[in-house]
Amino acid sequence: MSVLLKNGRIITAAQSFTADLLIEDGKIAALGQGLHFKADECMDVSGKLIFPGFIDAHTHLDMETAVTRTADDFASGTQAALLGGTTTIIDFATQDRGHTLKEAFSVWQKKAEHKSACDYAFHMAITDWNPQTRAEMKDMQELGVSSYKLYMAYDNLRLRDDVIFDIMLEIKRQHAMLGVHCENGDLVNGLIRRQLRQGHTAPLYHPLSRPAEVEAEAVDRYLTLASLADLPVNIVHLSTALSLEKVRAARSKGQIVFVETCPQYLLLDDRLYAGTQADPFGGARYVCSPPLRSLSDQQALWQGLIDGEIDTVSTDHCSFNYHGQKELGSNDFSQIPNGLPGIEHRPSLMYTAGVATGRISPERLAALLAENIAKQFGLYPQKGAIQPGSDADLVIWQPEDEGIIRAATQRQQVDYTPYEGFKTKGRVSDVYLRGQAVVRQGKLKTSNAGRYVSRGPASYRRPL
Ligand SMILES: [Zn+2]
Repeated sequence: MSVLLKNGRIITAAQSFTADLLIEDGKIAALGQGLHFKADECMDVSGKLIFPGFIDAHTHLDMETAVTRTADDFASGTQAALLGGTTTIIDFATQDRGHTLKEAFSVWQKKAEHKSACDYAFHMAITDWNPQTRAEMKDMQELGVSSYKLYMAYDNLRLRDDVIFDIMLEIKRQHAMLGVHCENGDLVNGLIRRQLRQGHTAPLYHPLSRPAEVEAEAVDRYLTLASLADLPVNIVHLSTALSLEKVRAARSKGQIVFVETCPQYLLLDDRLYAGTQADPFGGARYVCSPPLRSLSDQQALWQGLIDGEIDTVSTDHCSFNYHGQKELGSNDFSQIPNGLPGIEHRPSLMYTAGVATGRISPERLAALLAENIAKQFGLYPQKGAIQPGSDADLVIWQPEDEGIIRAATQRQQVDYTPYEGFKTKGRVSDVYLRGQAVVRQGKLKTSNAGRYVSRGPASYRRPL
């Protein structure tokens, strides 16, 4: 099967240019002006942009918490991903305490296999560190896992500093990428107790229990451990100006630090937690950790995207219905399941707020949402690149199309969107996954074409 895309505007992190693109056997076969090939299918895409398939390095699909399960599983979540232009996700396979990494890997494979609409890989989240877990990290490498996640908050997940340090040394041996959820877990627990003791049970108090300092202190401590271990590391969902200052300080001393942020920290702010007079609990829709921040934090993060201080934008998609799930915390904000949906809308949100406003270039968008992620996590140049030999994961983008985000029309299997009513500019027209047209004219054409992607070693080189 071959496809010839004529006259598209190809967007890569380094440059953009108008060219024809030939897809053959799932790969990009040729790229150039006036290509003359007899393809099975030929499409004129003049006036449209062609991005590399977007990659979301931070999703939680089909994830159980102590009392509930995410609203999206691998079927709905990855179909939503494709409709938005995301062709590969890296989800978190999480080890349960008392269980092995291999068990976690196979549990997550079962969740995704034959169900995933887009390609997928796994970060391995370690929660139980012992000699067996250490020995298993080699097996993980053979299974194509080249990144790990650790938590400094959440009692069922978090690890002590000495354990984190020990794991860092092992990760370094494997040339893998570490990402850490940076919040001071002890302090979070204490601040929650203080709020509840005062009878403060509404969603409004969620951000007050996790102020900027709680994140920044953990970022600083994490970077201290990483410096001691001499390991380049990633910070997931960085949300504040204060944390960015800690990163800057570490980098000025020569440390290699990757930074991820998410659309919610760029587009939403902590005023939303107040809800409305008619619906004071409504702020529960926005409960995630770290919480939404101030407008000045937002501004600092945008500046970070523009200056190159922030390397990647992924979603932390972790969806819970408002009715029946977020409502579990109606008498106690600390019982509201943490997380927001976003897997479907990241590209259009970032295009609208970033590219259409002129804050960032389309090339920078390609870097933040695809190429940088692929490089950092051992997927490049199979993914994240538009060049001969790469997987033909391509997004054909109509830059002038306008739309409105609505829960009623989303594919995400959740009863709300935090972006309800957002006007978007630019929209997915068609999506190719390894050469297969999986979205046509904005409509999903196939629902389980996704495959597991075995990854190579991580890259410790930050984009220039
Ligand atoms: Zn997360």
